Amino acid sequence: MQIGVPAEIRAGETRVAATPETVKKLVAGGRHRVLVQASAGVKASIPDVEYERAGATVVPNAEEVYANADIVLKVRGPSLEELAHFRKGAILIGLLNPYDSATMEAYARHGITAFAMEWLPRITRAQAMDVLSSQANIAGYKAVIIAANEYQRFMPMLMTAAGTVKAARVLVLGAGVAGLQAIATAKRLGAVIEASDVRPAVKEQVESLGAKFLDVPYLTQEEREIAEGVGGYARPMPADWMRRQAELVHERAKAADIVITTALIPGRPAPKLIKEDTVKSMKPGSVIVDLAIEQGGNVEGSELDKIVIKHGVKIVGIANLPALVAADASALYARNLLNFLNLLLDPKTGELTLNREDEIIAGSLVCIDGELVKKT
Ligand code: NAD
Repeated sequence: MQIGVPAEIRAGETRVAATPETVKKLVAGGRHRVLVQASAGVKASIPDVEYERAGATVVPNAEEVYANADIVLKVRGPSLEELAHFRKGAILIGLLNPYDSATMEAYARHGITAFAMEWLPRITRAQAMDVLSSQANIAGYKAVIIAANEYQRFMPMLMTAAGTVKAARVLVLGAGVAGLQAIATAKRLGAVIEASDVRPAVKEQVESLGAKFLDVPYLTQEEREIAEGVGGYARPMPADWMRRQAELVHERAKAADIVITTALIPGRPAPKLIKEDTVKSMKPGSVIVDLAIEQGGNVEGSELDKIVIKHGVKIVGIANLPALVAADASALYARNLLNFLNLLLDPKTGELTLNREDEIIAGSLVCIDGELVKKT
């Protein structure tokens, strides 16, 4: 197989879908050839020469990658201009934003076979391929580092000859992969942490990291069932539960110095968890980092790719935080994709074995043979 790795062209995207480590594994055995576009890894601190040393062929432009590739590894879904260069029947693997049905239809019309890593089932066997988890982990870490940088006080408690400095109070909303890493990172910096999530299973995880869980009790069976979600994902909660959560969040945000919001509902706009009146009630100099900004944001007043000051509170709306940790984000992403590829390629012959009975393949398949795959 010819495996192509073009440079990412989306603004701010610094990651790359293969690294010298994964290239080396792909070319071992001599069944596959990897074509990497020149400079594809530069923003992730990987010079072309390292790809060459690992056994890749570095080609001067994306057209040459697409013209030869049977399989294309991408971070972000290709634009329609990029798509035009794909060979009919080529396989595409990446974070395709499969909820954008117009673009997915264009992929199908072009005759490619596309796999969206967002749709990987959250099952144990898929963990080593789970791009959402590997990247959310990085985003949660970086959110705290950015918050610490924007905050004009210390994170840990300090006792000095000049007096005592109080530890920062951090509130984390949404304690999935990103939120749990934000809690762990803030804890290492010495903060006092509280966290909230809709899913009941999260309480124990939050507490095991040394944070306090903010309980919003379920008053009806319906509330509990929705909160428990499907496959580890949240669904939108009933309005009454959201109102009770907002009241609690309002009270706790007033006491917080830093708020990190990570709440997402797959395929839907992010829930608004911090209203403007809550921002208004927060202490001057507090910092909010809105990790959900690309899905519309959890915070009223956050702006895409900006740091704004509203009512004396800094609101950070920088998108795609994993791209700010490009080297490690690429290393983990590339390993996730390699593990996924190992599922598609026969270990003995190197031929494509597209077993549509396999839950992981079926779950992530977006289109094949000119048709969109229906999801039930
Ligand atoms: P996500 O990024 O889709 O959402 C982030 C968090 O926001 C979730 O924990 C969600 O419950 C929460 N949320 C949604 N609405 C909210 C609201 N109104 N208030 C507060 N929080 C709200 O989720 P994720 O981090 O990708 O994954 C969620 C969970 O799935 C993980 O914590 C884990 O338990 C599970 N998971 C399982 C596997 C596996 O078994 N292979 C892999 C990855 C994740």
